Amino acid sequence: MTEKKLPWGSLTGIRPAKIAARLLKSGMTEEEAAEYFVSEYGPDIEKGRLAAEVAAAERPICDAMLPDGVSVYIGIPFCPTRCLYCSFVTCGTRQAARLIDEYCVMLKKEISYTADIIRSNGNRIETVYIGGGTPTTLSAELLDDLLLHIYSEFDMSNCREFTVEAGRPDTIDRTKLETLKKHGVDRISINPQSMNEETLKLIGRNHTPRQVKDAFYLARECGFDNINMDVIAGLPGETLDMFKKTLEEVEELSPEDTTVHVMSIKRSSRLHEYLSDYNLTDGETAAEMVDFAYKYLKSTGKRPYYMYRQKNQLGNLENAAYSKAGFESLYNIYIMEEVQTIISLGCGGVTKTVDRDTDRIERIFNVKEPKDYIERIDEMLARKDALRKFKVEN
Ligand code: SF4
Repeated sequence: MTEKKLPWGSLTGIRPAKIAARLLKSGMTEEEAAEYFVSEYGPDIEKGRLAAEVAAAERPICDAMLPDGVSVYIGIPFCPTRCLYCSFVTCGTRQAARLIDEYCVMLKKEISYTADIIRSNGNRIETVYIGGGTPTTLSAELLDDLLLHIYSEFDMSNCREFTVEAGRPDTIDRTKLETLKKHGVDRISINPQSMNEETLKLIGRNHTPRQVKDAFYLARECGFDNINMDVIAGLPGETLDMFKKTLEEVEELSPEDTTVHVMSIKRSSRLHEYLSDYNLTDGETAAEMVDFAYKYLKSTGKRPYYMYRQKNQLGNLENAAYSKAGFESLYNIYIMEEVQTIISLGCGGVTKTVDRDTDRIERIFNVKEPKDYIERIDEMLARKDALRKFKVEN
């Protein structure tokens, strides 16, 4: 029996584009970098090309980074329901209702404390990303209050990208979108994952494909001209045709950015616990889906601009984002290529400091559970003091 070839060959790292970036920097062309991948690690040439294309798209963006720039991530760990495959520490809003207000109070405390460190270190904030969870789970009032606080504490005058994940269409309404817009949020995510109604039910998302479209049109009406949509290849029970339908319906909306994730079975997910109850897509079909996405999205004029691999992904494949020219997310590139310090606030936040001279990376962890975060906020603030040693020298 012939052994099935792995799409990425012997490459085990999660950031193949980082290797490709080094190859391009050394003077190789994209094709030479792709061929080097094949000779060194034995992946499919298409995967080598993908890594090289991503590295080429990232390069001018990394080159244009502010020398003293940092990015800020703010986590909101609440979602309306828990997706079947979710491994994050997120609370469904029903059980978390009483935690949300208190969480926001503590988060504002951490924002103020960190803003002071960023100011005294002499850093400029280049991007802000509010993710989760689903930040738009918060009421319009809480969102308004949080955004006002961000502007009152951070110097946002150098911020080039402000993203909020409005991931679940059932959490979006006009008031919330107008609140985000009013406060300068210029990029949002509306994530269908699938445009097949039965799949959405199966994976525990409380919305329909119609709601995805309605939320998208509403966001356009509210003036959002940079919208990302996430889809997942290899959701339980999905065929290649179902995946194609999802992508085609998403592209009819013409979002600026489409991110194609490949199903990954995480240990702490419900899916992992009840695995035998689900009809999983096989690795070969997942590979066909990813291949279709690459060709189809490129045919719409988009190009891949960031990618990463995760453990336990179907078929050992990769996640990749495709954007229209000029709509590459700076934050996603910075975090994926580990080229800029990302200061993470809120529970589950992992701050990564990047020393650009030595490429040395250090991490500061926040606790994962919202309840712990609230109770131990002073300890989280004290941990942030480790950032003080990264003062910008004039
Ligand atoms: S929307 Fe994301 S964070 Fe929320 S439950 Fe689903 S996978 Fe988890």
